[in-house]
Amino acid sequence: MLSFLDLKTINGRYRAELIEAAARVIDSGWYIQGAELKAFEHEFAAYCGTRHCIGVANGLDALTLTLRAWKELGKLTEGDEVIVPANTYIASILAITENGLVPVLVEPSERTYNLCQNNIAEAITAKTRAILAVHLYGQLAPMQQIMALAEHHDLLVLEDSAQAHGAQLEGRKAGNWGNASGFSFYPGKNLGALGDAGAITTNDDLLAKTLRALGNYGSHEKYKNLYQGVNSRLDEIQAAMLRVKLRYLDTETQHRRNIATLYRDKIRNNNVSLPHLEDENSHVWHLFVLRSKHRAELQEYLTNSGVQTLIHYPIPPHRQHAYKELETLQLPLTQQIHDEVLSLPISPAMSIADAEEVCGIINTFQPGS
Ligand SMILES: *Cc1c(COP(=O)(O)O)cnc(C)c1O
Repeated sequence: MLSFLDLKTINGRYRAELIEAAARVIDSGWYIQGAELKAFEHEFAAYCGTRHCIGVANGLDALTLTLRAWKELGKLTEGDEVIVPANTYIASILAITENGLVPVLVEPSERTYNLCQNNIAEAITAKTRAILAVHLYGQLAPMQQIMALAEHHDLLVLEDSAQAHGAQLEGRKAGNWGNASGFSFYPGKNLGALGDAGAITTNDDLLAKTLRALGNYGSHEKYKNLYQGVNSRLDEIQAAMLRVKLRYLDTETQHRRNIATLYRDKIRNNNVSLPHLEDENSHVWHLFVLRSKHRAELQEYLTNSGVQTLIHYPIPPHRQHAYKELETLQLPLTQQIHDEVLSLPISPAMSIADAEEVCGIINTFQPGS
């Protein structure tokens, strides 16, 4: 079976370096908020081109704490509306509602699955205060347009870059477009730790300072608490793992691009539509997502042919039990996307020969046979 994502092989290629990094942490006797985290924050900020990177416990916390910090700084108030794509992973929405803010779910662009200018503009009301721009599947949302709209309407922009480490447009990377950006380093992400981890990038000094306090019990100074904060920190051991993995990120992204190019060149089947690519560098192919009216059959065909696929995502947030209050929303495109998408295997550890085999299998798929 060709597995969807083989983390053991991915990390196994760096086994010696990862063990050396882990040993360094073990031997340091210092496990939280030490030299490894400081170095990783510095290196990841440099990678994104931002002034600050603040390590936190996971990607959801990165988003939640940023919105919380804007509340503490008086830039957001409970009840304010935040525009977010309806087809995102549920974490984006959880970050909004956890803060008592109101998610305004908008349909994405049919071509890119990301927010688009017109749909945002239509959703702006007197209560809109922010846009949560998700770079879904690894492709940058149209940030020039989003930033222009935000400026015009005086809105904050938070990027959800959990799937888009290194994606760039006009030489500017994910994480360096909005007022702040949340990253996840969940093991399966393009830059993955060996456990949970996340970070916020920003060029805003005051926001960075507030975030550092909020993630550390609300404390700027030991035993002095300015906010009712939380404990959300990126452990030394994970920072050390991430420092190793960051050095290979661009090489791994290039491999993902090679597989995506092959899929896009070689998959030819009228029952399948291929993902649209806006710009070569703007996509880091966290996921390679097809669409098909015959998804269930196609998935079964691939499984029977030895190829594991996944669905990102089977149920949209507004159809989840957790969001019963949103169940009356009519979002036909979002629903259709959730009914038709199918993610093919793509990873830095997957061989080109395996990708060619996947193409061959898809090209012989016939529904109803
Ligand atoms: C993974 C992910 C998150 C959450 O990250 P965690 O580290 O799992 O908390 C948020 N948004 C998107 C789009 C994601 O893919």
